[in-house]
Amino acid sequence: MAERIFGKIGGQFRVERKDGMGKLRILIDMDGVVVDTMGRLDQIHYDSAVGIENVTEWDISKFYPEKRGVFNFFNLPDIFSKADPIDGAVVSINKLFAAGHEVIFVTAVPIDSLNGYHQKIHWIYHYFGFANDNFVATHRKDLIDGDILIDDKPENIGMWIEAHPGGRAILFPQPWNGKAGWENHTKVWEDLVREIIQ
Ligand SMILES: [Mg+2]
Repeated sequence: MAERIFGKIGGQFRVERKDGMGKLRILIDMDGVVVDTMGRLDQIHYDSAVGIENVTEWDISKFYPEKRGVFNFFNLPDIFSKADPIDGAVVSINKLFAAGHEVIFVTAVPIDSLNGYHQKIHWIYHYFGFANDNFVATHRKDLIDGDILIDDKPENIGMWIEAHPGGRAILFPQPWNGKAGWENHTKVWEDLVREIIQ
């Protein structure tokens, strides 16, 4: 892998590849970063009765009446496929592609989901028009090489940056990871793209 240089440009931290091409491999999580999976959960089963703004810990079973049974909903045949994009995600990721960066969607598929892989890769195809070379299904994101990881799970951020100390890991703000600013995802995505592309 190319060695990386780190520096402050325009007052913001930036990762640059030493190959001189300036092309970054950007790993992007799907659920909670690109796909509004929790919004879908509320939409189809809870009629917004719980509200994602009230799900303030990673263990979402604490906030739903089914307790751990809530995870069964992630095995439904349309839980992922009919989820909406996170605000600002699609247009922002298209800007990353247009700037010549490599974007790889890296997502965990639930073990009991019979068609989760299909739902997710088709979701990417539906919104971006391609998928095969830009999609990795794994729970072990730390095994995937890249310059930047954007994810909403603190554990993924920690494991990945430990395995890739020269990279940059960005925790995407959501109520369940305790980050302020989740209310305006469009702004978050705009800021991310501005910082990466400059
Ligand atoms: Mg996620």
